[in-house]
Amino acid sequence: MSHTTVIPASTYAGYPAIMTPHQLDTMRARAQRDPDGFWLEQARRVYWHRKPTQAFTGSFEGDVSIRWFEDGQLNVSVCCIDRYLTDRGDQVALISHREGRQASEKITYSMLHERVCRLANALTHLGVEKGQRVAICLPMVSEAVVAMLACARIGAVHVVLFGGFSAEGIAERLVDSGTVAVITANVARRGAKLVPFKETIDEALRKAGSASSVHSVLVVSTSDDPVLMLPGRDYNYHDFVDEFEADFVPVLMNAEDPLFLLYTSGSTGKPKAIVHACGGYIVWAAYTMGMVYTHQPGDVLWCTADVAWITGHTSVVYGPLANGGTTMISDSLPTHPYPGRWWDLVDQYKVTMLFTAPTAVRTMMAEGDEVVKKRDLRSLRLLGVAGEPISPDAWQWYHDVVGNKRCPVVDTWWQTETAGIVLGPMPGVQALKPGSATMPLPGVEMTLIDQQGGAVTGPGEGALCISRSWPGQARTIWGDHERFRQTYFTMAPGRYFTGDGAKRDSDGYYWITGRMDDVINIAGHRLGTAEVEEVLAEDHRIVESAAVGVPHPVKGQGLVVFVIPRKDAAGEVTEQALSRLIASQLGRYAAPEAVYLVPDLPRTRSGKIVRRLLRKIAEGQIENFGDLSALNDMAIVKMLCDRVWGQM
Ligand code: ATP
Ligand code: MG
Repeated sequence: MSHTTVIPASTYAGYPAIMTPHQLDTMRARAQRDPDGFWLEQARRVYWHRKPTQAFTGSFEGDVSIRWFEDGQLNVSVCCIDRYLTDRGDQVALISHREGRQASEKITYSMLHERVCRLANALTHLGVEKGQRVAICLPMVSEAVVAMLACARIGAVHVVLFGGFSAEGIAERLVDSGTVAVITANVARRGAKLVPFKETIDEALRKAGSASSVHSVLVVSTSDDPVLMLPGRDYNYHDFVDEFEADFVPVLMNAEDPLFLLYTSGSTGKPKAIVHACGGYIVWAAYTMGMVYTHQPGDVLWCTADVAWITGHTSVVYGPLANGGTTMISDSLPTHPYPGRWWDLVDQYKVTMLFTAPTAVRTMMAEGDEVVKKRDLRSLRLLGVAGEPISPDAWQWYHDVVGNKRCPVVDTWWQTETAGIVLGPMPGVQALKPGSATMPLPGVEMTLIDQQGGAVTGPGEGALCISRSWPGQARTIWGDHERFRQTYFTMAPGRYFTGDGAKRDSDGYYWITGRMDDVINIAGHRLGTAEVEEVLAEDHRIVESAAVGVPHPVKGQGLVVFVIPRKDAAGEVTEQALSRLIASQLGRYAAPEAVYLVPDLPRTRSGKIVRRLLRKIAEGQIENFGDLSALNDMAIVKMLCDRVWGQM
């Protein structure tokens, strides 16, 4: 933050901005003056069978209840498909690219309607009813999108589960959510790896035993790889579903009926099943995506997130389709089978808006500029990231090398609980600052709470809270409303606490400092993990780093840093030099107790660093790591323990 770069909006003079800075200010002021009126107006972005006359009717006090557009009725699949059938039935809604296949699928709105209706009929035939839960555990194939919308059409509540979870992780979630049917695949290819989806589901169901309510399993064959099928329970998806009628009258839903449950990434602890409701969610998805990733005719949005994350729900499926756009999915990896794979796909499909995770940006940056420069990326007009802090350095690389300084980079901050973008710039309208997720969207009232519990005015630092509800706010944690209340509404009574810390600068821009759990207090100095990591990110020999606090007898807490050096720079980077760098940039108090050079870091399945695990390893609490179901690779734990504590 010390040497902030500011890139004025005028840099992107050719960008099709959807409003002027003045109009944005007016919108902000209007939302603040009359939130109910503002949100009822935004609710018109989607199709209602019965238009709502009320906006927010809940309360952050007492038991906490979050309710929006309560007297409205709609069906989310209608918002995303039927309303576009007349106007743009032949427009491509979904491009599905699969590695190793000659042709990609291009599914128009009419085709999507047919497929969704067939599956809606099939699920109904299997006895799935409104309000029941259906788990979707699929790789990035078109059936995943169809399945979500088919659930929405019959009023079933979908629970999308990441295919890479272990059988235990899946069993636990199937039981917790009370799922009655599962839609999965035989196998999936992840780069050179074969992931056994069906086998894992079988094992999960065996483990869950009588605690599971699953009566039916639909299996998409993504390849010829055979799998065992249990007669009476398992059905081959296409053999079964394609026989059903291509029309299905959507079930009328109340705005507050749940649309889906989604488990959080599990970065900070046991994953929680967040509940989102039909009306508020779809309005919010259409609004947030419409403001930042505005679809214009011919646009192709490629959000590389897996559908199993909130970004996959809102930026791959519901946002783009509710706005009548074209969305793309792909099962490819950024650097497999060769570096630059994603850039070739951008060119091949003429992607105009690319949205990915900072970890992917860092991976591609590590391959060097030439990989990008020899490709044609002229189709791009907007670049985005979300999910983790992006260092100014990686931001600038994305902007300068990938975007050739032509495309705004939108760093958006959001959570499973917020369902859509909360902090993020309006491209072409607001000045950008690399490393900052800019400002809240109009209608979001963000507050920083200081250590005394007071609201910070003007520039400052504190716990990131939201003081008024927004339509896409999580309604509860499935089956545990008390945990919901305690997690989000007790730190700052009367406000929603995000769990993250942030700074606000004199222009009102927000800078995420990391999870509040991870704020380190060294002899009275508060230090955000993101601040330490930012210093290291400026060194080009470093791919990534993670800072954690450990108890210290004198200072209260001490800093421990894990660093991944670039492969070609491994010999040059020393732990002492990095230690000195941190102390010289942030102050002597920040001198780390230890710096460990490591080949990789523990990550969630969604690619985020699991700092709580690093903290435990650094502290030597290596007996009990807690719930590790969200962890991507268990081998890393032993490797890090060995690195820190010697061979065990
Ligand atoms: P869990 O809640 O289970 O610990 P999680 O918080 O990682 O997991 P998500 O809801 O997927 O699960 O992630 C939201 C979090 O990701 C935010 O609270 C924030 O810490 C981080 N995050 C998201 N976007 C950004 C961003 N643009 N900049 C910085 N951090 C971000
Ligand atoms: Mg979280």
